[in-house]
Amino acid sequence: MSRKLEGKVAVITGGNSGIGLATARQFVAEGAKVVITGRRQTGLDVAVKEIGGNITGVQGDVSNLADLDRLYNVVKQKHGHIDVLFANAGVGELAPLGQITEVHFDKMFDINVRGLLFTVQKSLPLFRDAGSIILNASIASIRGNAAFSVYSATKAAVRSFARTWTTDLKARKIRVNALSPGPIDTPIFDGMAASQEEVDQIKLGFASTVPLGRLGSVDEIAKAALFLASDDSSFVTGIELFVDGGKAQV
Ligand code: NAD
Repeated sequence: MSRKLEGKVAVITGGNSGIGLATARQFVAEGAKVVITGRRQTGLDVAVKEIGGNITGVQGDVSNLADLDRLYNVVKQKHGHIDVLFANAGVGELAPLGQITEVHFDKMFDINVRGLLFTVQKSLPLFRDAGSIILNASIASIRGNAAFSVYSATKAAVRSFARTWTTDLKARKIRVNALSPGPIDTPIFDGMAASQEEVDQIKLGFASTVPLGRLGSVDEIAKAALFLASDDSSFVTGIELFVDGGKAQV
């Protein structure tokens, strides 16, 4: 059977953990040459070693524009172009209205919105026409869960980018789609509470609200990312693909 991303060059931000890591593994297995980023060199080295095959790790913070320039310089030197970008890096921290601080607001928007925007914009000179850009949003883009206001606003912005950039990139036939996971079992929950007990409670709470009765797995998101990255979705652009066990659909 032919592989779905044979010879394609894919960049995945936040590829050393959770959804990004599973997607990097899937893309490499489907024949892609993958470049992943992450903030910590050690975590990145572990991911690169674990995945093996045609993968490169570049340390960097997506909210730091100089780091993004460094990333794309490595991609240019190593591969010369990009076919697929999964702008996945993001943070999820919670604060109810009344307790939102400037630090919380700035951190969430710096990484999830500003960082994602410049991740995409700075990739464009290297992008091949007819490539695929996937933005990791969230069901939070359309939901109003308690204490999620700033996170949800960042993801609504990401979903909006998929619309506008589909239009902006029309002449180049680059497809742009938002991928919106429901609750997925990843380390992102660790940042939502102080103790492991509270984290487990949050996860259980989420699972009980999902029609399929559980959290999703990272591999279930990686498969959806593969669909959006590959020619299987050649007539799909500007959408928000929900992969959420039905949570935001009923
Ligand atoms: P995770 O914590 O396992 O992974 C987050 C990744 O982003 C890590 O690799 C981390 O290093 C990277 N990252 C964070 N800030 C960064 C920065 N400033 N610069 C570079 N990299 C940075 O969590 P995850 O659940 O895999 O999250 C990945 C994406 O999925 C996020 O955008 C998140 O909002 C989104 N998402 C997750 C869920 C979920 O339930 N897990 C649901 C919806 C959306």
